[in-house]
Amino acid sequence: MEVRLARKLGFCFGVEHAIQTAEQTLAQRGGPIMSLGEIIHNPQVVEKLSLKGLKVVRDPDAVTGTVLIRSHGERPEVLSELRRRGVEIVDATCVLVKRAQQIVAKMAEDGYRVVIIGQASHPEVRGVCGYAPDVICADTPEELDRLPAGGKLGIICQTTHSLEHFGRMVGLIVARGYNEIKVVNTLCNEVRNRQVAAVELAREVDVMFVLGGKQSANTCELARLCAEQGVPTHHLENWDDFTDEMAAGKKTAGVTAGASTPKWIVEEFVENLRAFESR
Ligand code: SF4
Repeated sequence: MEVRLARKLGFCFGVEHAIQTAEQTLAQRGGPIMSLGEIIHNPQVVEKLSLKGLKVVRDPDAVTGTVLIRSHGERPEVLSELRRRGVEIVDATCVLVKRAQQIVAKMAEDGYRVVIIGQASHPEVRGVCGYAPDVICADTPEELDRLPAGGKLGIICQTTHSLEHFGRMVGLIVARGYNEIKVVNTLCNEVRNRQVAAVELAREVDVMFVLGGKQSANTCELARLCAEQGVPTHHLENWDDFTDEMAAGKKTAGVTAGASTPKWIVEEFVENLRAFESR
């Protein structure tokens, strides 16, 4: 079948940097090291790196030796506790996540109550929340009821969200009538570029395939945006998840991939899909 690729897709610089850092550290140490949580939200990459010695640990108390901090970053109190215990920290926090952490700290210092438009359970958001006291996470209009009735608000966004969602939520906050609101755009352009390219492609094809981990927030957002264009959309981890019915009767398929999806998964998928005979 005819397969078209989004003009921007797959690994972002933050994920590439985290993987390179992990590989270099493993080579230098010559033995296993730990990663606090999965290095990226892609099970195939996590599995490949685990064969090279990168061991995923979820509990900071269980960390010993050398630990890699993934691109999502970590709460400052966790990092200080690890340092206190003599753990060697290799920090692969993405520069854009670091920027969000610094903005939040400065907002709190300047007397703003910080609001993050983001999912409270997402590791990046959990980490950023640690840089200011009493941060409020809100990701839906209903969750805005968590906001205080007055005072100065400082608003940022989870890096992987869409500009439209951020704008909508900020608009709803402004409508609540606060006297002073400071908004800083902490969205990631790498994610934005992939979203714009995916939407463009979704408007041209009969079916869209969005490749990436099911836990990957930016991949889920890509799938949501493509589906919003009215095209049948399938979020798959790789070719193993494909079934014939997904492409049956379709002439052209579009393929995109989240910022944590490696090139080889995309290449394998596209090759198989091109060979697929749609009936
Ligand atoms: S998606 Fe953006 S913020 Fe997240 S790791 Fe990649 S470059 Fe950094």
